[in-house]
Amino acid sequence: MSSVSAFVNTLIRPEILALSAYHVPACADMIKLDAMENPYLVPPPLRDEIAAVVADAHINRYPDPDPRSLKQKIRELLALPEGMAVLLGNGSDELIQLLALALNKPGAVLLSVEPSFVMYKMIATFVGMRYVGVPLRTDFSLDLQATLAAIHMNQPALVFLAYPNNPTGNLFSREDICQIIEASPGLVVIDEAYYAFANDSFVPDLAIYPNLLVMRTFSKLGMAGLRLGFIAGSALWLDQLEKLRLPYNVGVLPQRVAETLLDHHAVLLEQAEHIKQDRKLLYQQLSSLVEVYPSEANFLLFRVAHASEVFAALKQHGVLIKNLNGGHPMLTDCLRVTVGTPDENEQFIAALRACLQCTVE
Ligand code: PMP
Repeated sequence: MSSVSAFVNTLIRPEILALSAYHVPACADMIKLDAMENPYLVPPPLRDEIAAVVADAHINRYPDPDPRSLKQKIRELLALPEGMAVLLGNGSDELIQLLALALNKPGAVLLSVEPSFVMYKMIATFVGMRYVGVPLRTDFSLDLQATLAAIHMNQPALVFLAYPNNPTGNLFSREDICQIIEASPGLVVIDEAYYAFANDSFVPDLAIYPNLLVMRTFSKLGMAGLRLGFIAGSALWLDQLEKLRLPYNVGVLPQRVAETLLDHHAVLLEQAEHIKQDRKLLYQQLSSLVEVYPSEANFLLFRVAHASEVFAALKQHGVLIKNLNGGHPMLTDCLRVTVGTPDENEQFIAALRACLQCTVE
């Protein structure tokens, strides 16, 4: 009789066998600055309100497959005009997958830039779509000519651009992105996961470009645990994508809690404002120690000699950040730190100072 591994190795697609699962490190008792989460809980009166909403939720029933009032709140926040709609996902990761599934005709290409959010490439692999990654310039700005040439050559059905970009933190040039949208024969999705920390958005451009959708997540705005993302754009696009959405992809509790939190959107935006202020100080402190890249997100990318050793030493000091060294040739010796509370940021800087002394000696 064959072993389980013989079955697995014969039956699972080779490109899946070759993948490594997305790694989420253990973080018990550590200062957690690895995943771009908002470090703040909402204030106690709002927590009580959420507790009441949760207590009343009908968790014996399937969730509302079309939560209109939640969608309406999102539409209002974005000031979406008539003819535009919202599609909800279990985090925006799920929506990237849904888009890839919908556009993956035989031979279709998914194009993005590199380094960027790793899930674009991973999901292309999951669904069997050909992936093309166009390198950014060394300062992590878009290489417009190379991107336009790659679009011309590969005719991608789907283009993802993160605005601001992860893991580099910068906003690409708006003019360059407009040229990319205009030159694209396929759908262009602007991924605004970090919109709350930046000063620009492509939501108003939805009315201009027929091949544009904007994707956002509430994960970075204090709701990572809820898993809620959305795509905004023409109802003509979203009606088609709706067909692929699994009927109950957003649970009863995320729906109810997100709606309550959106009623207090100002509280979340205020937290984001604090994070932006703290980013400034963290940037200054970091730049006296290492090479830091400018950021319009809630994290900073920096380069330091012996990055993997520094990362391991920080862990020994109880601080977990993200090691990007080895992930992409342009990220050699790069580490990424999420902006935490002022206290967490201070502890991180103190630990980094100590680690740099050790790795230099
Ligand atoms: N897009 C970008 C650019 C991201 O960095 C992330 C999370 N790191 C996501 C999408 C996914 O967010 P979520 O699935 O939590 O909504």
